[in-house]
Amino acid sequence: MTGAAHPTLIVGGGIGGLTTALALAARGRPVHVLEKAAAFGEIGAGLQLAPNAMHVLDRLGLLPEIAKHAVYPSRLVWMDALAGEPITAVDLGAAFRARYGQPYIVMHRSDLLAVLLAACQAEKLIALEADRAVVAVEDLGERARARGADGTAYDTELLIAADGLWSSVRGAIVDDQPIGSAYVAYRGTLPIERMSSHAGLDNVVMWVGPDMHFVQYPVRRGELYNQVAVFRSPRYRPGHSDGRDDWGTVEEFDAHYAQTCDYVQGCARLMARDKRWPMYDRAPIAAWVRNRIVLMGDAAHPMLQYAAQGACQAIEDALCLADRIAATPADLPRALASYQAARAPRTARVQRTARDIGDFFHLAGAAASARNATMRRRAETDYAPLDWLYGHKA
Ligand SMILES: Cc1cc2nc3c(=O)[nH]c(=O)nc-3n(C[C@H](O)[C@H](O)[C@H](O)COP(=O)(O)OP(=O)(O)OC[C@H]3O[C@@H](n4cnc5c(N)ncnc54)[C@H](O)[C@@H]3O)c2cc1C
Repeated sequence: MTGAAHPTLIVGGGIGGLTTALALAARGRPVHVLEKAAAFGEIGAGLQLAPNAMHVLDRLGLLPEIAKHAVYPSRLVWMDALAGEPITAVDLGAAFRARYGQPYIVMHRSDLLAVLLAACQAEKLIALEADRAVVAVEDLGERARARGADGTAYDTELLIAADGLWSSVRGAIVDDQPIGSAYVAYRGTLPIERMSSHAGLDNVVMWVGPDMHFVQYPVRRGELYNQVAVFRSPRYRPGHSDGRDDWGTVEEFDAHYAQTCDYVQGCARLMARDKRWPMYDRAPIAAWVRNRIVLMGDAAHPMLQYAAQGACQAIEDALCLADRIAATPADLPRALASYQAARAPRTARVQRTARDIGDFFHLAGAAASARNATMRRRAETDYAPLDWLYGHKA
């Protein structure tokens, strides 16, 4: 069974896939999105969006809708999770906005997905198909073909893999696997009334400690409070634990957080324990393209979440890809090569930085004390080290 030929097929309707659909449609290109879940939606909790992503969302005209759901935090605060004391902060106020031209926001993932989905549904050039898992792709030279589980084949001029960390399409370009980090996250939201304040409920607060960190911030106009508890599992064994659920357990969570200050322990106790997210990334790759198949988002550059940039980078990819295609619409190979050249080095740097940030968060003993002493000397408006990341305009 062969479906109609599509100018552009996007495999995966997450944040990356839907943003790409909007960016392409805004430049007049029809798009068909295939999503394996029964409905378009997001699980998980909060999302931080830095100015580099906000520029793209602004270019796509989405900021008025996003503003209805977002929170604009005052500061990013680093706290010592054992001592309960401040380490440093980044002021997100007027000087930050003036420097980067956009604010730093936090919001519920499902709210962002709902904004993207509504915009896609309002766009005639975008067709959305849920409950459509792609089980195979074929490189046909000047075309590509995706095959659904029921055998339906979708032929296309351009197949964009936006199918995330566990991308099956990526196998058409590179033979690699996600790399387990031994860290696991528990996350969820609570009504904000249930929280007591320590470092400011309107801030993004990052508690750091030995082999752990704990992130807190408000979402959904400040009605909900998002918490992410991350720790290293002592039971994780590289190559043996992947795909198993006998590591990063609730017992390990409680045992690891027993060393933290009373406030962190109290907040962590409020969290649901029914689902855990093992943390994986992959090594950066330089080649994202094979003829008419191209990678984007986590399918191209999955990273540990420690820089809070995975979705931001997917959003940057989306606009870059659409702009390059619009620049040479009759020459897709050139457009794809130009997209890859623009995006691969930058996202590789973010992937590596995310790992480094994790190592820095998770220090213990004398190394942690030295880190804290160094960080305490920086000014809250010392933005220069952030310029390469937040100052990027796609
Ligand atoms: C704990 C945690 C916190 C994070 N916090 C942040 C943050 O604050 N800021 C930030 O920028 N990033 C953050 N990230 C990273 C961010 O979540 C990801 O980078 C982002 O979701 C990637 O978007 P994507 O669309 O590329 O992939 P995904 O969100 O994984 O979407 C992929 C989509 O493809 C679909 N799919 C998969 N396979 C198929 C198939 N075969 N056929 C059809 N459809 C398929 C999936 O169902 C899904 O809808 C965080 C990640 C974690 C784990």
